[in-house]
Amino acid sequence: MTPSSVAPAPMADPTAYLSDRVLHMQESATIAMAKKSRELAAKGVDVVNLSFGEPDFQTPQYIKDAAKQALDEGFTFYTPVPGYLDLRQAICDKFQRDNNLSYKPTEIVVSTGAKQSLTNAVLALVNPGDEVIIFSPYWVSYAAIVELADGVPVPIMGSLDNDYKVTAAEFAAAITPRTKLVMYSSPCNPTGAVFSRAELSAIADVLAQHPHIFALADEIYEYINFTGEHVSLAQFAAVKDQVITVNGFSKGYAMTGWRLGYMAARQDIAAACDKLQGQITSGTCSIAQRAGLAALKGGRASADEMVAAYHRRRDLVLELAKDIPGLKTPTPDGAFYIFPDVSAFFGRTAPDGSTINDSSDLALYLLNDAHVASVSGDSFGAPDCIRFSTAAADEKLRVAFERIKVSLAKLS
Ligand code: PMP
Ligand code: GLU
Repeated sequence: MTPSSVAPAPMADPTAYLSDRVLHMQESATIAMAKKSRELAAKGVDVVNLSFGEPDFQTPQYIKDAAKQALDEGFTFYTPVPGYLDLRQAICDKFQRDNNLSYKPTEIVVSTGAKQSLTNAVLALVNPGDEVIIFSPYWVSYAAIVELADGVPVPIMGSLDNDYKVTAAEFAAAITPRTKLVMYSSPCNPTGAVFSRAELSAIADVLAQHPHIFALADEIYEYINFTGEHVSLAQFAAVKDQVITVNGFSKGYAMTGWRLGYMAARQDIAAACDKLQGQITSGTCSIAQRAGLAALKGGRASADEMVAAYHRRRDLVLELAKDIPGLKTPTPDGAFYIFPDVSAFFGRTAPDGSTINDSSDLALYLLNDAHVASVSGDSFGAPDCIRFSTAAADEKLRVAFERIKVSLAKLS
């Protein structure tokens, strides 16, 4: 064969060689919007970025010190795939202390962020064609992760009257013989809704009637909860073995860049995730793990200080949003977002003559006109809504909502 005879024929679509998996995948909307906002800022525009959901606080100093010490002590080698044993033990202690849940280190897998923990769990449980019920509005990556596993996302939407929380009856009605998994976050990203004990108890009752269905409880915002009570689905003994609890350090300890998360699951599921991770990423960063160990040993005092600020900002932003006609904003009980219904603006015309057809148009309009970055609700399964992060300094929030008010008033 001559070299020319094996040269690939020119393709009409230059990306046709990419896998269907990646071609069909949507880019993460949170990341895309944060990118747009950075690009605008690089051009010298004074953008208030309320798109990306990440704490604006530095990681507490005692955690940074532990990372420095880890380097000095030579923690520079590959780590055990599911995480250092002492870190997994500290995670078990945390579950006992905070959640009254008893786990063994063999039931814990530490990963490169809660995002990987969620992915591991879905890849370990979902076969092609399996249905995954996703309580909506849901965090952007849930549907994409399910599709990566060739599963079928089945979003079910909670009602605005119930702060968008899906009820046990709505959950029960969505179950089919193909249902394999249900996933949700509480406190919820994007709505900030928090399931009460009674609500989760009812959901656990439904799950108990379907022992072949698993639940992925994303508790990454556990500490950022203004109700005073966080309830884990795994606390309902009848379903503990069906529940995979995901948590991490990004939010509670302001450690987004460290990439450290974990799951707790019954041993066979944890072992499956360990096996998967061993073929994909291996154990996560040694230094981040030592820092995570120090974080957990320090308890939640540092988180409590940050949470007081998030709570104050939640109140501030609700006040500011109340002053803007057309926004319907449920009160978030946790996390650091507001998620108003903005459908009152659909069909209106912007000063440049363009029409605002949906929440993506509105998010783009607000970015270009008000220089405020947000994320449109369609990527969270709620096309009537838009998400603003409240994890920003009070002054920035005031400026942002003043600008939003002015820009929205220009829509006719
Ligand atoms: N779940 C939810 C609901 C989140 O908001 C986030 C943050 N992006 C994650 C999981 C992933 O967190 P991590 O930074 O630990 O990957
Ligand atoms: N939790 C954040 C958000 O939802 C981080 C972005 C991401 O990881 O997608 O915006």
